[in-house]
Amino acid sequence: MTDEHKRVFKPDPVLSGITAEEEFVPVDGHKLYAKKDSPGKYLSESLRSRMHLDGKRFWAGDNISDYITESDREHLINEATEAFETVLDTLLIDRENDPNSKGTARRLAKMYYNEIMAGRYDPAPDATAFPNDSADRYEGMLVVRSELRSMCSHHHQPVSGVAYIGIIAAEKLIGLSKYTRIAQWCARRGTLQEELCNDIAREIQKATDSENVGVYLRMTHGCCENRGIMAHDSSTTTTVLKGAFNKDTGTKKEFFDTLSLQESHTR
Ligand SMILES: [Zn+2]
Repeated sequence: MTDEHKRVFKPDPVLSGITAEEEFVPVDGHKLYAKKDSPGKYLSESLRSRMHLDGKRFWAGDNISDYITESDREHLINEATEAFETVLDTLLIDRENDPNSKGTARRLAKMYYNEIMAGRYDPAPDATAFPNDSADRYEGMLVVRSELRSMCSHHHQPVSGVAYIGIIAAEKLIGLSKYTRIAQWCARRGTLQEELCNDIAREIQKATDSENVGVYLRMTHGCCENRGIMAHDSSTTTTVLKGAFNKDTGTKKEFFDTLSLQESHTR
């Protein structure tokens, strides 16, 4: 193979420790950074450097919507398409003549940005709150069952199942569908089930101002079904209990009794 046919992979300056001052020039009032020799060529590179400089974590399960505009997303989908074309080429798939592989790179790029990882790029769902502070305020427990689709960060295989979100409302209530929207927004990323369970509990606490939240997840993992141990009927449960759900045995028991009842009705 001659040199000109070799694809040259340049080390990522962000990850290889080159400082921004050496390698990047600020663009657009210090908000974006671009490489000195090719300003603006790769938006993803600029965005990574900006997050790096801000100390903003951008792991697969992190939301980075503050850094991306709607028009950026189209640009990023084009960049990811180019990168997926390289992956397909490296896998020796004839994407020019195989009719089923034509356009696959773009389909993958759009699917990652707009569907399976959309929770990284979309801002938090709008959760309008209603007051719950009158004399006849609702003081009972609310348990919402939400269907979830996620993806494991390790293998990018689907993780799917249900969440049971329990809450004892504080002085405000949010619409019932919002619990599911928030949980799905957390799930549409590359996650670990343990982290996802924590993320949902934290975001529900934020949206409702309630300290008393319980989250139970029952999920099946594509990476255990389609590869590795090839276990077709396995499931994994995780539980995060906050406030009374953790400290008060009565509340804890009510939560698990309620979700067992819901499981027996809906399975
Ligand atoms: Zn996995």
